[in-house]
Amino acid sequence: MAGRIRDEDIAEVREKARIDDVVSGYVTLRNAGGGSMKGLCPFHDEKSASFHVTPSRGFFHCFGCGEGGDVINFLMKIDGLSFTEAVERLADKTGIQLRREEGDVPQGPRGPARGRLIEAHRLAAEFYVDQLTTPDALAARQFLGSRGFDQDAAATFGVGYAPRDGEILFRHLRQKGFSPDELVTSGLIGQGRSHYDRFRGRLLWPIREASGEVIGFGARRLYDDDRIEAKYLNTPESPIYKKSHVLYGLDLARKEIGRSSQAVIVEGYTDVMACHLAGVGTAVATCGTAFGDDHARVLRRFMGDHGELRGEVIFTFDGDAAGQKAALRAFGGDQNFVSQTYVAVEPSGMDPCDLRLEKGDEAVRELISGRTPLYRFVLGNVLTRYDLDRADGRVDALREAAGLVSSVRDKSKVEAFTRELASSIGIDPDEARAEVRRAAARAARGGGRDQGRLAQQQRPGSQQSGQQPGQGSGPGHASGQQPGGSASAAPEAPPVPNLRDPRFALERETLKLVLQHPAAVANAARDVTVHDFTHPTYAGVWQAVAASGGPAAGAADAGWTSRLRDRITDPLAMAVLSALAVEPVLSPREPDTAYVVQHVNKLLELTAARRIADVKSRLQRTSPQQDPVEYNRMFQELMALEQRRRTLREGALGG
Ligand code: ZN
Repeated sequence: MAGRIRDEDIAEVREKARIDDVVSGYVTLRNAGGGSMKGLCPFHDEKSASFHVTPSRGFFHCFGCGEGGDVINFLMKIDGLSFTEAVERLADKTGIQLRREEGDVPQGPRGPARGRLIEAHRLAAEFYVDQLTTPDALAARQFLGSRGFDQDAAATFGVGYAPRDGEILFRHLRQKGFSPDELVTSGLIGQGRSHYDRFRGRLLWPIREASGEVIGFGARRLYDDDRIEAKYLNTPESPIYKKSHVLYGLDLARKEIGRSSQAVIVEGYTDVMACHLAGVGTAVATCGTAFGDDHARVLRRFMGDHGELRGEVIFTFDGDAAGQKAALRAFGGDQNFVSQTYVAVEPSGMDPCDLRLEKGDEAVRELISGRTPLYRFVLGNVLTRYDLDRADGRVDALREAAGLVSSVRDKSKVEAFTRELASSIGIDPDEARAEVRRAAARAARGGGRDQGRLAQQQRPGSQQSGQQPGQGSGPGHASGQQPGGSASAAPEAPPVPNLRDPRFALERETLKLVLQHPAAVANAARDVTVHDFTHPTYAGVWQAVAASGGPAAGAADAGWTSRLRDRITDPLAMAVLSALAVEPVLSPREPDTAYVVQHVNKLLELTAARRIADVKSRLQRTSPQQDPVEYNRMFQELMALEQRRRTLREGALGG
């Protein structure tokens, strides 16, 4: 990548990309009064609308789960983007040309904007859908019919047909004003001696972003004379299509995955369709690649968790050797992920699409609900290779299985697995424990050689290659998260008082005014200092305010709240900042200067009262005879404080 995006451009993106527009692409917002809007939170499962957006401040916050931030943060969270990716996408949307800081990486010529590539895909998808009704597409319709999909199903999933004519899409999109370069970059068009359509004579599934935008296609072979042998072809990597991130069906499954904290990973486009039609609305598939870290990251976001993975990820493997290998490989990977991973295998090896055809929707739902924990599936596979009726068979089975169990990094799981292993083999649990301990010792002596062997044996490349789009899409590389089970090691933080405690109500309300009405507050808040905030989190928010030029700076700058957020590193303070930026102020009318002055004076009055109490206490402990100078100084201070408190009170009352 080229150098860092310039700060001015990021600021401009924040200013021009309206947060309510962006959020509305994902959440239905309605007016909540006071310039605020609300809807159902996309980040957690809820029935009441706790998710607030304040367009004028460019902020969102959920009072249910605490997620909050500006338009860039929103896009990062909802679509799993990096900061730079989110800024780039918003820049394209708002027509801002991003400039980069001079970096050590030379910047190549800029390719077509994302918006152009998306538009080309939108038009291509429309074009292909239209083609599905032509006489030429008979084989495509027959294929769909043979897999149990009618016209409605095809329409729901936007299935289309790429004609056999080699450049019909190219001509169509050229007519719509796209340049050959744009079309080649998009991946829709190939270029040899001339330009040609990438997909010819194939049945097509549009692959969509979570937001519903088409970014690529998956294409199934239909004709025996197709010169490309592969049964499935996918869009090549492009600026908008990254196969390591893409999950087919996510646009349809997103809500249900969030609601149920469950995701089902199937192996192909027709399986996704079959699952959804059968009522398993959480099904997605990888496209032409194994399930990896990035896919796990994407899912984790939609499963509505904040930090660690919650919920279930269910893989539908073939029960065959490839599926078992994929499962075993996953087992050697990340343990947090593994403990939440399940496997749904149909005994006769049917995939969800076949199953729906032969046995109906109910059978598909049963397949998923009959899921098995991954570790049990893996251990089961190991044990089937031995004759457990023979003593030597049991010994060998125990030795191999114990090696697997001991490789589980989450030690809290090891005991449960060991007991289960013992009962599966039919031996005493103590015998199994001893063998697991020996296996662990062997692994330690061998420098983790057992795990290395496992990883080597089950490299993804060792599988036969690409027939179904997600061929071998086991949770192969589902690693790269935190190593398992070390959560309890963190030292306990000192308890923080409840932010909603009435003691801090005035501090909270003042900060809301500061963040939401900086212009009205600017003058009144001149005397406010960090000492006026007794809650450490509120004090932290005020410090960020002060460091960003105070409310006066905010009055003149729409991006101020975002800059404040950048100054805060404490996650709690960050969440509080976005909450304060959107929570309705407790004023029946639009807060004016008089209201704000009254408010700020009350806050200062409280500070004065606290100091009065402090000084009085010290006075009582000081002898006027022994220390007359200090006593008099404190007495003067007390008088001054009392005077200040009166002034503030009169100001607060008189306006
Ligand atoms: Zn929420």
